[in-house]
Amino acid sequence: MASVNFNGKNITDEEVKNVLQAIADTLGRNVNVTSGDRRKPLDVGAGKGSPHLFGRAADFHVQGLTDEIAYQKIKKFHESIFASGFGYQLLWHGPYTETTGQHIHISRFNGSTSGTVQCVKEGDRPENKKKYWTENIFTINWGRGSYPGSRKDPASPESIWGENSYVTPHL
Ligand SMILES: [Zn+2]
Repeated sequence: MASVNFNGKNITDEEVKNVLQAIADTLGRNVNVTSGDRRKPLDVGAGKGSPHLFGRAADFHVQGLTDEIAYQKIKKFHESIFASGFGYQLLWHGPYTETTGQHIHISRFNGSTSGTVQCVKEGDRPENKKKYWTENIFTINWGRGSYPGSRKDPASPESIWGENSYVTPHL
């Protein structure tokens, strides 16, 4: 059975951990976490707005898949991976990322963006370094269904929403 390797990283948010396990289960592959909770912002991107600082984010790779393929598969199977009642950002930092290295990022928003998955890519091509492009905003009609409603929690800044547009990065 596929599992999540946390590699010693702490992730406060139980739902983010549930999503990582759902990715492992759905894709049938282990998930390797490279970053979780952070105490200080990075020097790049949104920095102080990063959901890593609020314990609601994870960076990872999927074993045996390139990040690009993993990102596409997570999008394809979003209905079985993400639970309804919350909002998420799925972000692929490609080979030309402004960050320290390519990876996939997921984070959970607060209740005001519940029931959606915002899919964003950055650095897929040299000219797209630092450009955060929203490819899709999926509405989750049914997910694992274990979390009813729009549970509120301490808010971090929300993204600017809209398909096929640039967004504020959440790294
Ligand atoms: Zn991240």
